[in-house]
Amino acid sequence: MNETLNVLVIDDDVTDRMAIRRYLAKTPLQATMTEAENAQVARQLLASEPFNCIFLDFRLPDTDGLSFIKQLRLEGNRLPIIVFTGQGDEQTAVELMKAGASDYLSKSRLSPDTLSSLIRHAMTVYRAEQRTRAAQEQLKQTNLLLRQQNQELEDQRQQIEQQNLQLLEANQHKAEFLATVSHELRTPLNSILGFSQILKSQTKGPLNDYQVKMADCIHTNGASLLHLVNDILDMSTIESNRLHLTPHFFDVKVLIQEVLSEMHWMVSKKELAIQALVNLEDGVVYNDRQRLKQILINLLSNAIKFTDQGTIDIEVNSLAQNSLEICVQDTGIGIADEQLASIFQPFRQVDQSIIRKHAGTGLGLAITHSLVSMMQGWITVSSQIGQGSSFRVQIPRQISEPTTR
Ligand code: ADP
Repeated sequence: MNETLNVLVIDDDVTDRMAIRRYLAKTPLQATMTEAENAQVARQLLASEPFNCIFLDFRLPDTDGLSFIKQLRLEGNRLPIIVFTGQGDEQTAVELMKAGASDYLSKSRLSPDTLSSLIRHAMTVYRAEQRTRAAQEQLKQTNLLLRQQNQELEDQRQQIEQQNLQLLEANQHKAEFLATVSHELRTPLNSILGFSQILKSQTKGPLNDYQVKMADCIHTNGASLLHLVNDILDMSTIESNRLHLTPHFFDVKVLIQEVLSEMHWMVSKKELAIQALVNLEDGVVYNDRQRLKQILINLLSNAIKFTDQGTIDIEVNSLAQNSLEICVQDTGIGIADEQLASIFQPFRQVDQSIIRKHAGTGLGLAITHSLVSMMQGWITVSSQIGQGSSFRVQIPRQISEPTTR
């Protein structure tokens, strides 16, 4: 405590005031003392000067110490107040402390030591209270700031929620639009395919070589267009949660043979050997046959598309917990590590260049992934550039129904 303390002594007894002044001078404290002989003068002094500490005589001519303290505290004055009491005034002292006095002392015990320790103690408590009050004030401000930030965050959350709703709605419209357009495109496309097929068969009259080639071209391009339209339709139906599986019992061995014979024409154009190994005693599964076929065709057609020579193996094994694993493996171009993580996302193609060698929409694996998820299964891929790729599908033998993605 090195600062000079400004002490206000309120006492009507001039002898007592002089005694306090004397004792104060004998303390090691640096203190200046101002005197007030009654409450009214004290109030005027308090209003005009900054004090650090108040000594108050309990009995004043114009008021009593208790009311004086209560009034000061009510007005927000928090200075340390030490009250002088008479002998045997303990009960009064308790009342004074309750009203807000910092300490009390019987005048008979007045000495430089008691005065010094009282002031030191009162000042220590006062400063601690001040620090607490400052911390509380800071806390209040921080709380206020946090509440404001919370409110801002809540406003932003609501805004994002609103935008999300709008996006969802827009997405729904987009999916519906795509579904309608694809549906509308399929009807004329099927006619084109049908009529070009009739032309090619020459049942309605002979065609020359050039015409046969053209009819073949119309049919092939029409078929790829239909495939693309079907993929877009599937993706939009999946995205709008409108795709439902319709499961029934069928033999997966028969399905695989069917897929292989349908895809034979693709393999025959290349130097490829395709082989199937179905390690199942009982091939019966409960699933959506058409959708499982679609998965197989997607994986096999990719394997054929991205493999120029070598082998394509399809292997089916029984797994624990009544599930199956279908693995389609090729010796083709392979997929780079950095592409593998996003390979099941829509529109992902490793070769994005306009002059790319292999046709496709980049939807096949995304559709496959979604279908496998709907079947409560999962699909994984491992691949090495120049060595080939291996896609593994694990699905339960019996899926639960009805399922949406
Ligand atoms: P796409 O219609 O382009 O084939 P997919 O979703 O089926 O669309 O495949 C996405 C991309 O993943 C392909 O464009 C190709 O880059 C890569 N990919 C898929 N399967 C294979 C595979 N067996 N070998 C090499 N790359 C593959």
